[in-house]
Amino acid sequence: MTATLPGHLDHLTDRVAALRQETAALHAHLPGNGLVVWTAGNVSQRLPGTDLFAIKGSGVPYDDLTADDMVVCDLDGRVVLGDRAPSSDTDAHAYVYRHRSDVGGQVHTHSTYATAWAARGEPIPCVLTMMADEFGGEIPVGPFALIGDDSIGRGIVATLQHSRSPAVLMQNHGVFTVGRTGRAAVKAAVMCEDVARTVHVARQLGSPLPIAADDVDRLFDRYQHAYGQ
Ligand SMILES: [Zn+2]
Repeated sequence: MTATLPGHLDHLTDRVAALRQETAALHAHLPGNGLVVWTAGNVSQRLPGTDLFAIKGSGVPYDDLTADDMVVCDLDGRVVLGDRAPSSDTDAHAYVYRHRSDVGGQVHTHSTYATAWAARGEPIPCVLTMMADEFGGEIPVGPFALIGDDSIGRGIVATLQHSRSPAVLMQNHGVFTVGRTGRAAVKAAVMCEDVARTVHVARQLGSPLPIAADDVDRLFDRYQHAYGQ
């Protein structure tokens, strides 16, 4: 628990304040899209070019969230700034930042439909063009892992290594997403729940049709490189 940055990080004070502000604001998208209840779920963001990231304090209700509730940690998950205990998922986020230098933001939720797929340990098959766009294939399932050490982080990194998806369904647990920014990770979490719901609904009256692998590749390449620019 510390109210100011340690001396050797003094020069980062303004950037860290902006990071905490932006990370707090991104949290509004989680209840706003129906992805979380009570205090569950969190967003984190790396301070670019540093070994620091901001993450939600543990057990803070979304309605009351401010920049001061964002805890700044190093990549070992140790608190360097903040009055609160960091989220209980901090070790998982820290592990992913340590092992994925391309990741600048992460989101964790227990959003209902996606977590229902996680409860069955079933990947969400790529049967929608928007899934090919955003996820580049199925949304994979990671191993069952208990909180409290590196095992969730290890499971996330290992599972995403074999996938283009920015989202992984950790078995019996919920959704973890990564992105170049916190905003990109939030988008992946919103899209993950949306497609989990649509594919679930599609399953009720029949078998969703797969999309051919080369069409998935074409959709993914177009969306990732051309769309929106
Ligand atoms: Zn969780």
